[in-house]
Amino acid sequence: MTALPSAVELVRALVAEPSVSSPDPRHDRSNRTVIDRLASWCEHVGFRVDVSPLPNAPHKANLVATLGDGPDGLVLAGHTDTVPYDESGWATDPFELVGTDDGKLFGLGSADMKGFFAAALHAASRFRADTLRRPIVLVATADEESTMDGARALLDAKRPTARFAIVGEPTGLSPVHAHKGILMEQLTLRGRSGHSSDPSLGASALEAMHVAMAELLAFRAELQAEHRNDEFAVASPTLNLGKIEGGDSPNRICASCRLTFDLRLLPGMDLEGTRAELRARLTKRFDGALVTMALDSLVPGVPPHTTPREGTLVQTLEELTGRSSRAVMFCTEAPFFAALGMETVVCGAGSIDVAHQPNEHTSRQGLDAATELYAQAIRRFCVE
Ligand SMILES: [Zn+2]
Repeated sequence: MTALPSAVELVRALVAEPSVSSPDPRHDRSNRTVIDRLASWCEHVGFRVDVSPLPNAPHKANLVATLGDGPDGLVLAGHTDTVPYDESGWATDPFELVGTDDGKLFGLGSADMKGFFAAALHAASRFRADTLRRPIVLVATADEESTMDGARALLDAKRPTARFAIVGEPTGLSPVHAHKGILMEQLTLRGRSGHSSDPSLGASALEAMHVAMAELLAFRAELQAEHRNDEFAVASPTLNLGKIEGGDSPNRICASCRLTFDLRLLPGMDLEGTRAELRARLTKRFDGALVTMALDSLVPGVPPHTTPREGTLVQTLEELTGRSSRAVMFCTEAPFFAALGMETVVCGAGSIDVAHQPNEHTSRQGLDAATELYAQAIRRFCVE
């Protein structure tokens, strides 16, 4: 059997396969070539592979690959897609992995998170199925950067099952036991246009939005008074009024106004409950008004994540890395694996600070350290 190509060569091959996912159809594309490459490497290492197209987007797919048999295994999970890229900001071709003398490796998705798969595959390749008491499950998802529909499809299908999951998002190889959740919503208000000299001729959607924004900020203040978690750098829930569009002329009553905003939830806050309360408050505000309201979700939303710090996985990763577990502000697929019943921690090489940016990079040292860490985790959870 030929050896698996080096970790750097694996990252190079994955970076060369475009797999942007985006709510904007102009940028969105299939992740299938990345999935197929991973599937063939997994088979090479001895995994049984299962590629499943997404029910609502059959040109995209998830991969679940299993080495060994039985319950209580360890999932190593990552997403295959990247965000869109701004070519003018890149010093190099985003689809060509470029290394520097100090070990940096530049390329789109190198840190977030194609590098993870190289480390996970190399860690798993050190083990043979017949030496494993519990299975290693490598999971590669679609659409994490847009809708998280890949992870949602896994949850709907109730698979995989295992005892532990490590999601290899870039955390500088520190264990992360908690992150915030997110809602992204769009509020549209429709009134009636008219000549501005006589307000009775119309119903101003812009003035109504002023009322709606005050309601949103009041809701934010209440949430911030009720919820606090000092593990987070920003210890309270946040609500950001991100974009507003409406009206066309100073002398015309504004007929339509649209606002988009996000709301970031702390662990313990209920995603659907918070969304329902938001809707109820705004609906009450516009009950009987001349302006009508529509509240739509721009994305399905990601729940906040938390796993107990005293749990086996956090404790083991703290011991293996020598670093204390922490909470971060970005969202991951961790809550979906947790919902499948796994103790789930986020831990991977590279920095989130360089992700979603031109000149994204990881490093050879980071890949090597991640490979060692995942191999040790496999030894602890699947062999001993
Ligand atoms: Zn990511």
